[in-house]
Amino acid sequence: MTDQVKNSHRTVTVIGAGVAGMSAACALAEAGFRAQLVERRGYLGGRASSYLHPGVGEVIDNCQHVLFGCCTNLIGFYRRIGVANKIHWTREMTMIEPGGRRSVLGPSFLPAPLHGLPRLMTAGAFTWADKVALGRAFDALMKPVRSDSMESLGDWLRRHKQTRGTLERFWRLVIASALNAEIDEIALPYAAKVIRELFMNSAEAGSMGMSTVPLSELYAPVTPYIEERGGRVLLNAYVEGADWDDATSQWTVRTRTGELLSDFVVVALPFEATEKLLPHLPPSDGAGALAGQIAQQEHWPICSVHLWFDREITELEHAVLLDREIHWMYNQSRLQGRGGHYIELVVSATRAFAALPRDEAIAQALRELAEFFPKVKEAKLKKVVLVKEVRATFGVPPGIDAARPSAVSPWPNLFLAGDWVQTGWPSTMESGARSGHLAAEAVCVAVGEPRRILDADLRPRGLMRFIGK
Ligand SMILES: Cc1cc2nc3c(=O)[nH]c(=O)nc-3n(C[C@H](O)[C@H](O)[C@H](O)COP(=O)(O)OP(=O)(O)OC[C@H]3O[C@@H](n4cnc5c(N)ncnc54)[C@H](O)[C@@H]3O)c2cc1C
Repeated sequence: MTDQVKNSHRTVTVIGAGVAGMSAACALAEAGFRAQLVERRGYLGGRASSYLHPGVGEVIDNCQHVLFGCCTNLIGFYRRIGVANKIHWTREMTMIEPGGRRSVLGPSFLPAPLHGLPRLMTAGAFTWADKVALGRAFDALMKPVRSDSMESLGDWLRRHKQTRGTLERFWRLVIASALNAEIDEIALPYAAKVIRELFMNSAEAGSMGMSTVPLSELYAPVTPYIEERGGRVLLNAYVEGADWDDATSQWTVRTRTGELLSDFVVVALPFEATEKLLPHLPPSDGAGALAGQIAQQEHWPICSVHLWFDREITELEHAVLLDREIHWMYNQSRLQGRGGHYIELVVSATRAFAALPRDEAIAQALRELAEFFPKVKEAKLKKVVLVKEVRATFGVPPGIDAARPSAVSPWPNLFLAGDWVQTGWPSTMESGARSGHLAAEAVCVAVGEPRRILDADLRPRGLMRFIGK
């Protein structure tokens, strides 16, 4: 009997259609379950989505989302729904100093972990003292970092005598911004993971991917994928609570538009929305402990400034902008083939920028952009959007792993997903996809048919094959 036939009578309701919920629902649909994906908004994608901005009449992503070659579960989800070819990959990262001097980081012919060394050595953005300090830090990170280490990245960097240049231009800008927090608020094991994956394991693991279409368009095949396998997608359906019936071993999920019966539930919500749902689930012994874990979570903001000029201000597709508040530049006209000379700037982990009034934030972004690309001074700004995502990501301070629950919940046949659950990854789309795949595996275990859904990590290459994790 095929999986499709075996499971076709079993219904699973997945609450929340972010990357976690979509990954779980699609994997379960593939495994033969009747998947009901329920989302409060009118579109898919959650914190990684796009929408028509009424003020400017343009479809914008809530923020540029990048992935890396090591994001095997996100790529696995994209493959499952047939959109992996819509990701544009690059192995180069251009760093620009105010004034315009450029340094390009990227791989060479040398084996991992040395592949990035030649370009780092010629990068004008770093002094020789910086390069020696970075070499020392990378060397130290060759040794495994204990996953239960309570050291912060900041303390570790001070212990390894990092220079001001490396702190500002590498650790804060590249690593802390990937983890979206201040260096003193990042647990060392998470920083070590990012360094290993992006800069040491292989050139493939560190290559950077960006969608060539707006994010919600990327997920367009999700609905037909689920429907063709007997399931459905319900939008504009806010879930208010759920009740468990011991007699029938079924859940009734209550939405604002009606009730849904199902054998299994996957709650794929951010921690804040999970917390809101808890009082509306049946009483359970473990609920208090879960609420305690959620109480330890903290969110961090990310802002993006979307600018449409009357002319091209740079030929670059993307760049890292050094020493200023704006961190990343994405040329959406080049990346997504969008008209109107569309540039997006991203400011991560900066509560001060997120607190600025709109006009001040935009003025500062424009002023700084002109320091990197002088053409901004002659160009006319035609329209602009500032997006402040105050609850963009969860933090990964030392000790956070104890506050990340597994997929198994205190309730029968109800599983947890979402980027914040225990995946070992920081707040990213990859963590969302992993959590979705882990929850789908847990559902399969619950029906007595365990199967591997989690996509395997990329194998380290070159000399990294012989160096322990
Ligand atoms: C500005 C910004 C920039 C980012 N940049 C990157 C990046 O470059 N790379 C990267 O990998 N990650 C990035 N992230 C993080 C990434 O977006 C998230 O980690 C990931 O999308 C989380 O997915 P999720 O499915 O776990 O949660 P969510 O995307 O939050 O999905 C949860 C879904 O549940 C829905 N929901 C909530 N309550 C209910 C309810 N009661 N009933 C029904 N539905 C409900 C929500 O509407 C939402 O669609 C960024 C995030 C932001 C906000």
